[in-house]
Amino acid sequence: MRTDVLVVGSGVAGISAAIAAKTANSGKEVVLVGEERPYRRPSIFSLIKGGSLEELSIFRKDLIVGVKTLFGVRVRKLDLYDRLAELDNGEKIVFNCAVVATGSKPFVPPFEGSELSGVIPFRSYSDALSVRKMLGIGSKCVIIGAGLIGVKLASILHRSGMKVLLVELKKVLWTLLEEPLSNYLRDLLISNGISVIEGGRVESILGGHRVSSVVIDGRRYEADFVIVVTGVRPRTEIVADQLKLGVRGAIRTDKLMKTSIDGVYACGDCAETIDLVSGRKTYRPIGSIAYKAGKLAGANSVGNEREYNGFIRLQGDDFLGISVTSIGLAGAEAESMGVNFKTLPLKPKGVKVGIYSALFNPVGMFLGIVNGKERLIGFQAVGQRLSRKLINSISSLISSKSNVNELRSIGLEPA
Ligand SMILES: Cc1cc2nc3c(=O)[nH]c(=O)nc-3n(C[C@H](O)[C@H](O)[C@H](O)COP(=O)(O)OP(=O)(O)OC[C@H]3O[C@@H](n4cnc5c(N)ncnc54)[C@H](O)[C@@H]3O)c2cc1C
Repeated sequence: MRTDVLVVGSGVAGISAAIAAKTANSGKEVVLVGEERPYRRPSIFSLIKGGSLEELSIFRKDLIVGVKTLFGVRVRKLDLYDRLAELDNGEKIVFNCAVVATGSKPFVPPFEGSELSGVIPFRSYSDALSVRKMLGIGSKCVIIGAGLIGVKLASILHRSGMKVLLVELKKVLWTLLEEPLSNYLRDLLISNGISVIEGGRVESILGGHRVSSVVIDGRRYEADFVIVVTGVRPRTEIVADQLKLGVRGAIRTDKLMKTSIDGVYACGDCAETIDLVSGRKTYRPIGSIAYKAGKLAGANSVGNEREYNGFIRLQGDDFLGISVTSIGLAGAEAESMGVNFKTLPLKPKGVKVGIYSALFNPVGMFLGIVNGKERLIGFQAVGQRLSRKLINSISSLISSKSNVNELRSIGLEPA
């Protein structure tokens, strides 16, 4: 088979790249090859309680008219110099341009016992089905990693009647929230009956064939199953010997999402991107960025020359009756990029402290100093769900390098 553009990977990045390529130039042939049938990854939580893969599907045929799709097939070898792909069904595809959108894989720290039956990562629909199966088998679960996925799993499993222990090397949601907000959330988890260990190092997972306990800082905790959600790593195995890699081993890309080889683009969880706030390269494996980067890579692969200046991070979720939102740079990331910042508590304008905390709960924000100028670099809130309009307004204030006083225009002020 021959094609103008070959897209490898059928996640949100690959699908948006394929649609964008076809939309930007309908005369070009676009082939999309994906190991998995596409589905909405953030929705896999719903499979724990029931439901099927079909309900998660993001594949709408009307959206990708004209794209040839090959699902359930893996690209075994991708020769980016000779422009030849070999699939694991023996088929070969000759291409002019390629978009690499191979996503990421779970990172499981190398503790002893991580290979035991009953130790599950949480990234794919089959992982979610494994967790569902476990609900019928045991009642004690240890979740390793208190990021958004770990905290959400803890709340879901707790509500399903499980005895949940959440263990985290640092602090709850430390990559998204500053300390007072993180503490607030930890206390909320605990008051709801979820056990939380912060600053806890998992030493090993014990068991015969199946897991039976987890050793944390020398103490043994019983477990019928263990979920490991300690982050992801970019999947680059078919291109790592050909493309330059950048931040955290992700594929190096420029402002066009082009890689180190001409005519080859990369996007999504396998690729680095530019952070809009600091202008620095970063690795952010999140769906909203995968979608935008995919659109850019796809359109540019058929001749557009659209550059981007950076993407802004927006993450959040709801659990235990509250909402968490984190936009822009959070402290941990700012520190790792060498960006100086200070934090400033915020409140809705005109509302007295005390009343606002009942309404809004702790709200935090960052005032950062970037390139010598004082400006808003991030915003965090834990409490009631923020409206889409407020989130968009805050994102634009951060993107447009606004000063803290400009938050008054959207009804917020320093507490
Ligand atoms: C439980 C969970 C909840 C999440 N919630 C959110 C959220 O609320 N908001 C948010 O923004 N992000 C969220 N994320 C992150 C988001 O899902 C990812 O950032 C996003 O899926 C990345 O898309 P992608 O297309 O780059 O990669 P992936 O989704 O990993 O897709 C890549 C695809 O490429 C395929 N592939 C890899 N190698 C090959 C090959 N050689 N040949 C063929 N196919 C190949 C893979 O099988 C995979 O299907 C969540 C993730 C998880 C796991």
